[in-house]
Amino acid sequence: MRGKRVLVTGGAGFLGSHLCDRLLAEGAEVLCLDNFFTGAKRNIAHLLGNDRFEVIRHDVVQPIFLEVDQIYNFACPASPVHYQYNPVKTVKTNVMGAIHMLGLAKRVKARILQASTSEVYGDPLEHPQKESYWGHVNPIGLRSCYDEGKRVAETLMMDYHRQNNVDVKIVRIFNTYGPRMAVSDGRVVSNFIVQALRNEPITIYGDGSHTRSFCFVSDLIEGCVRMMNSEGFTGPVNLGNPGEFSIRELAEIVVRLTGSKSEVIRKPLPQDDPEQRKPDISLAHEKLKWQPKVNLEEGLRQTIEYFERVIPTAAPAAV
Ligand code: NAD
Ligand code: UDP
Repeated sequence: MRGKRVLVTGGAGFLGSHLCDRLLAEGAEVLCLDNFFTGAKRNIAHLLGNDRFEVIRHDVVQPIFLEVDQIYNFACPASPVHYQYNPVKTVKTNVMGAIHMLGLAKRVKARILQASTSEVYGDPLEHPQKESYWGHVNPIGLRSCYDEGKRVAETLMMDYHRQNNVDVKIVRIFNTYGPRMAVSDGRVVSNFIVQALRNEPITIYGDGSHTRSFCFVSDLIEGCVRMMNSEGFTGPVNLGNPGEFSIRELAEIVVRLTGSKSEVIRKPLPQDDPEQRKPDISLAHEKLKWQPKVNLEEGLRQTIEYFERVIPTAAPAAV
């Protein structure tokens, strides 16, 4: 990585900031581009003194001209609360953002990795989900600005690859959690931990039987970097932890690990909330020799420690 210039869009966000850490540790020059919609300066404050690190306040909906060797395209709000706040903007971020980053990659002959999502499988009828599954997505629902936006981003990656020979990589990221998720992020792991630490009611949407598979951030970043540096393989490839838990189980584990006095309450299930989700990661194992190492309890412990430090100065959770 030494000497390589790497652009990370969404670099001040949860995953993007961990990626910046990792790339700098490997000797790269890192350009962190962000519009700070859900990202925070606090996530990258520790990097500002590094002379191989640069921050660019920019919105990927607008074009940008830079000279880089690699692009990780991570700019996009990932929490349903945030991507549904301004759905038209979410579509623009995914579609215009991908077009602009692909245009940049084409011009400077950079390799580009797109952060796609398990949401491209929608409410999956196949379980666990393999990359060959085309998905079951509602094109007109509340989640479609994100799901369909990411699907178009994948389409653009493959079309620029076939039409213009752009060197592309696609990772489909399954629910990932860890330190630096925003207190007000609104996703389930951060919500439950924040609620438990504040002894506030833990909000289960629906009856808690829905499942998700939770990947710790360090494992996910390792998978992304391996994919970027792999040869002769565009993906898409699933990256996630196949351990599958119901939302009720997650609430119980968080309450136990925090020793919280919180009660568990029910709230209505959001529209089109996928019933189950679990990655088949055999392709990542075969092509990247990758598999997650951190189990849910260990990852939650590290995440709880983080929130214990930041909560005293933070705003309420978004529920
Ligand atoms: P996040 O919300 O913490 O980070 C997103 C970052 O993108 C933020 O810093 C935000 O300010 C920035 N951003 C948003 N819109 C932008 C725009 N128009 N221009 C420039 N910057 C913009 O979310 P995250 O969990 O770190 O997710 C990062 C990426 O990974 C996203 O593309 C997301 O879709 C994808 N992903 C994440 C998960 C997960 O579980 N964490 C799962 C699937 C996919
Ligand atoms: N969820 C919940 N309580 C919360 C936040 C989320 O029960 O406070 C549920 C949500 O309905 C979904 C699951 O947890 O079934 C995961 O939600 P999240 O927003 O983290 O991610 P996504 O639905 O995009 O996988």
